[in-house]
Amino acid sequence: MSLSPVTRYTSEHAPLLDEFRAFVRTELEPLARQSDTETGDDITPEVRSFVRRRSAERGFYAGEYPEDVGGRGHPFAAKVLMHEYAEECGCPLAPIALCGPAGPSPLLLWATRDQRERYLRPLVEGRATRCLAATEPGGGSDVMGSATTATRVDGGWRLSGRKCYVTDAHQADLVFVVARLVGEGAAQPAVFVVDAATPGVSLENVRPGLVPEMLCDVVLDDVHVGPEALLGGEAAIGAHQDWTLRALTRGRVVVAATCNGIAARALRLGVSYARTKHSFGAPIGTYQHVQEHIVSSRVALESARLLTFAAAQDIDDGVEALEQAALAKLVASEGACRTVDRIFQVHGGAAWVRGHPMEYLYRYVRATRIVEGTSEVQKLILAAAEGLT
Ligand SMILES: Cc1cc2nc3c(=O)[nH]c(=O)nc-3n(C[C@H](O)[C@H](O)[C@H](O)COP(=O)(O)OP(=O)(O)OC[C@H]3O[C@@H](n4cnc5c(N)ncnc54)[C@H](O)[C@@H]3O)c2cc1C
Repeated sequence: MSLSPVTRYTSEHAPLLDEFRAFVRTELEPLARQSDTETGDDITPEVRSFVRRRSAERGFYAGEYPEDVGGRGHPFAAKVLMHEYAEECGCPLAPIALCGPAGPSPLLLWATRDQRERYLRPLVEGRATRCLAATEPGGGSDVMGSATTATRVDGGWRLSGRKCYVTDAHQADLVFVVARLVGEGAAQPAVFVVDAATPGVSLENVRPGLVPEMLCDVVLDDVHVGPEALLGGEAAIGAHQDWTLRALTRGRVVVAATCNGIAARALRLGVSYARTKHSFGAPIGTYQHVQEHIVSSRVALESARLLTFAAAQDIDDGVEALEQAALAKLVASEGACRTVDRIFQVHGGAAWVRGHPMEYLYRYVRATRIVEGTSEVQKLILAAAEGLT
C-alpha cells in the first residue's frame, strides 16, 4: 500500500509516533510473547496495570494531558495517530498503552485545582483507573436525560439511581456519575467523581460482552458524597452539559482513530491473504470480486482517516468539533465494521476459527457503532447541523 494522504499531512508528529512505535516493538511485543497474549481476549489485569504504568513513565499514556498533572501536553492529533497505530500494529498490548475508558476523562480538564491533584494526576500516571457511569436502563442515547438524582444534603450530596453497561467498573477506583440535580433550578445534569469504595455504591450484572471487557450495572443507593465530588465545584453548576458534550466529542475522535487502526490491520491481513491463497489455480486476489472487497475497504479507510485527522486538528485549534467529530466517528465506525466483514469474507472459513485475528476483530469492532453515541446519534447531530431539528 502506498503512503496514505494523512501520512503526508502529519509529518510534524512523526518523531513522537516513531518513539511510540519503538516502545511497542522493544517493550510491548516481547511482553505479549512472554505473557502468552495473542489477542485482547488474553490480557490479565496485572499485565494491563503494568503496561499502563510503564507507558505513563515513558510519556505515552495520557500524554495529551497538561504537564502540571503529569502529562506531556501532546497535540490531540498526535494522540489520534498513536491510537490508530496501536490498533494497526497487531500487538494486543499496544491499545492499553494509550488511555481508553479506564484512563483520565477529558471531563477533568475542567476540574478544580484540588480535584486535578486528587483525581487527575493519579489517573494520568496510570496509578488509578476510573469508569464512566452515564447509561441507564431507561436509555443511554439521551445521556443528558438522567433519571439518577443528586440531592443537596448537609455536608454534600446524596446520589440515587442505577447505571448500566459501565465498562470495567469492577476494576475502577473512581466512578464518574452523571446525575440530575434536584431542586437547583431548571433540571440539569451534573457529573460527580465518586470513590468506588463509598458506602452505597455496588455492582450488579458484571458480565462480558463480545470481548472479555466486563460491563457492569452500578447501583447508587443513597450514596453520600462531599462537596468536593461535584466536578468543578459549586461555581460549575450549569456548565456540565457543555463539558459532557465536549468530552464526548474528544472520545468520538479517539473511537474514530481506533476504527481506522482496526480497518488498516484488517486490510493488511486481507491483502496478504489475497496474494497467497490460491483457488481455481490462481491467487484469490486476482479475482475481481475479491479485489472489490480490498479496494472498497481502502477507499473507506482513507476517507475516514482524513475526517478523523481534521477533527483532531480542530480540537488542537480550540475549535468546537461536535459536527466534525460526529462525521469522523460515523464514517470510521461504519467503515471499519464493513471492512472487517469484507476481509472476513476474503478469508473464507479460516476467519471463523477461534483465535484467528479476523475472528477477534469481528467481535472487537462491533461496539464502535454503539459507544460514545450510536451511529444514529451521530446522524442526529449532523441533521441538527443542517437545521433539521
Ligand atoms: C462495549 C460497550 C461499552 C460501553 N461502556 C459504557 C460505559 O463505560 N459507560 C456508560 O455509561 N455506558 C457504556 N455503554 C453504553 C452505551 O453508551 C450505550 O449502549 C449507548 O449510548 C446506547 O444507549 P442504549 O444502549 O441505552 O440504547 P438506546 O439509547 O435505548 O437506543 C437504542 C437504539 O435506538 C436508537 N435511538 C435512540 N434514540 C434515537 C433517536 N433519537 N433517533 C434515532 N435513533 C435513536 C439508538 O441509536 C439505538 O440503535 C457501553 C456500551 C457498549 C456496547
